[in-house]
Amino acid sequence: MIKCYAAWNPSDEDRKGSASGGVATLLARSVISRGGVYFGARWDSSQRRAVIAWTEKDPEKFRGSLYVLADFPRETWQALEAFLKAGRKVLFVGIPCQVAALNALRRQFPGQLICADLLCHGTCAPEDLSAELAFLTSGAEGAVEVSFREGPLFRMAVWSNGMRVSCKKAAQSAYLRGYLEGVTLREACYHCPFASLDRTGDITLGDFIGAEPRNASFAWPHTPEAETLLYQCGAVLQEHPLEDRLSYRPGILEPTSRPKERDAFLRARARLPFPSAVRRTLGFRIGTDPLRQAWKWLHHQAHILKNALS
Ligand SMILES: Cc1cc2nc3c(=O)[nH]c(=O)nc-3n(C[C@H](O)[C@H](O)[C@H](O)COP(=O)(O)OP(=O)(O)OC[C@H]3O[C@@H](n4cnc5c(N)ncnc54)[C@H](O)[C@@H]3O)c2cc1C
Ligand code: SF4
Repeated sequence: MIKCYAAWNPSDEDRKGSASGGVATLLARSVISRGGVYFGARWDSSQRRAVIAWTEKDPEKFRGSLYVLADFPRETWQALEAFLKAGRKVLFVGIPCQVAALNALRRQFPGQLICADLLCHGTCAPEDLSAELAFLTSGAEGAVEVSFREGPLFRMAVWSNGMRVSCKKAAQSAYLRGYLEGVTLREACYHCPFASLDRTGDITLGDFIGAEPRNASFAWPHTPEAETLLYQCGAVLQEHPLEDRLSYRPGILEPTSRPKERDAFLRARARLPFPSAVRRTLGFRIGTDPLRQAWKWLHHQAHILKNALS
């Protein structure tokens, strides 16, 4: 029997900001407490993009799933290599195609670079998310925060300069619906070679769909180092046969299938900006109510003024 775990972080606070059981944060803390470094994806609010970054002290800033391809800058890659050369332990948590790109380094530094590959439904293109955020913030300049999920609930919330400007459940959010229904993924994701049982990392993490408690993480270690890290990190572990996780297939047995609406979306995308193309494809209203837009703009200006005066 191949075994895996339903795993969760005993801290309510940690789980609140995480996509599932908050295990990534525990693995990161465990590596950091032994002098290691944690690499993962986080949101850069001033640049309005997801980036691969690293930390030696605050893995909490890396919690939550970002449904977009994160930028992996050359200097971050070089920093990762430098840490390994200096003899430091490194934990990388990311999507399987990123982990596959790190595999040569993993072989070069055995046991020193530990990679966790996430089960992956797919990612949207960064420029599509940028266009959606510009639309939702009515083109306002400045910092933008975004979150896609509150525990098991898919909900896209957007903050512009500290003020929440949009918060919609999956059914009402064009971006989330396009993502979850698989209409707006990057083309490569429909043919992803990593959506299989042949995993790229030392440990696979995902959502343990079907286990109790609801919203536990799925954790499946593949190497002795990853197994030890999982046992030592402080997660509550519930052993399961792997079959218990396989009934929900995407990401682990096969890639997300390419829906029939995909071609209509691409045709719309060729002549319209992303926000209009996805709304047209999914049957959302495209035009925005001018009164509502004016109200949003006034509200936003009032917030900027209040910040300037305080
Ligand atoms: C794009 C994406 C698609 C996913 N699809 C599925 C799926 O189909 N089925 C499933 O079971 N699980 C999926 N997951 C995994 C799942 O949502 C959780 O990330 C996983 O259960 C770990 O949860 P956690 O609570 O332990 O950690 P969290 O604290 O929620 O996880 C944070 C970790 O996720 C990483 N991360 C977040 N966004 C990105 C990104 N854009 N690129 C690279 N790394 C990122 C960060 O590095 C961080 O280490 C997906 C995750 C992502 C990012
Ligand atoms: S589905 Fe595959 S190719 Fe697409 S982001 Fe995930 S791992 Fe990368």
